[in-house]
Amino acid sequence: KFKDQVVIVTGSSSGIGKACAIHFAGQGAKVVVNYSSNEEEGKKTVDEIHERGGEAILIQADVSKEEDVLAMFRETVDKFGRLDVLVSNAGLQKDAPFLEMTLQEWQKVIDVNLTGMFLCCRAASRQFLAQVNNEEAPNHSELSIGKIVLMSSVHDIIPWAGHVNYAASKGGIMMFMKSIAQELAPHKIRVNSVSPGAIKTPINKEVWSDPDKYEGLMNLIPYKRIGTPQDVAKAVAWLSSDDSDYVNGETLYIDGGMTLYPEFSDNG
Ligand code: NAD
Repeated sequence: KFKDQVVIVTGSSSGIGKACAIHFAGQGAKVVVNYSSNEEEGKKTVDEIHERGGEAILIQADVSKEEDVLAMFRETVDKFGRLDVLVSNAGLQKDAPFLEMTLQEWQKVIDVNLTGMFLCCRAASRQFLAQVNNEEAPNHSELSIGKIVLMSSVHDIIPWAGHVNYAASKGGIMMFMKSIAQELAPHKIRVNSVSPGAIKTPINKEVWSDPDKYEGLMNLIPYKRIGTPQDVAKAVAWLSSDDSDYVNGETLYIDGGMTLYPEFSDNG
């Protein structure tokens, strides 16, 4: 489905981003695997793609730093000649009770989860437009010229005490995504989000590796299983493909029903 398309997945040294990178490569894409500090894990993602016969390169960039982001997009185009899809996935948590949260904990999460999305989405959109304007034989297809998928969270609508920086960043992604989708649609650039519920990755290991906490988590998930990174990767790929060409500015919840108010399910 993505033969010869070039895809950047930010934060793909781990978890959901890693699954997305592997999934896209398996469908023929040339993939940029991005990491911020863990080069070894980034290399493992690239190695896994190569072992499966796919194509990928590794690029270090902290998505909250403008110069890093610009360099990553430059290197992508130098290496692969173009860009077709951005999966803006990199994100982190720095949890603390609101009354004790430091400005540093607040700022770090906003910088990576929200400003990082701004920097990457702006760079991708500029690249999509530049390559259309540079094409010798312009493509008159009705299909989009570039696709962006942002990694949000169910916490873009479910408030989350003890994680106000994270919830604020994800709520911010929702309006950021919708606003740029509106602005970029006339240019035929599509922008959507996926909002995962609980997905088994290092970010929430503390919950799924503790049987008591896992049981508590299941009370929040009507479908009664934790999600896998592959569950999310398949949805990201659909939103990045021409199969979803008329979908724009939407948020797709991938949460086993976590956003269905499960506490109401046995209310008679
Ligand atoms: P993870 O910790 O396994 O992966 C996070 C990735 O982001 C890592 O590769 C990390 O290196 C990268 N990253 C962190 N800071 C970065 C920076 N400054 N620059 C570039 N990369 C950076 O966790 P995950 O669960 O795979 O999370 C991926 C995304 O999914 C995040 O945006 C997270 O908020 C979102 N999400 C996860 C869940 C879940 O249950 N796992 C639920 C909802 C949303």
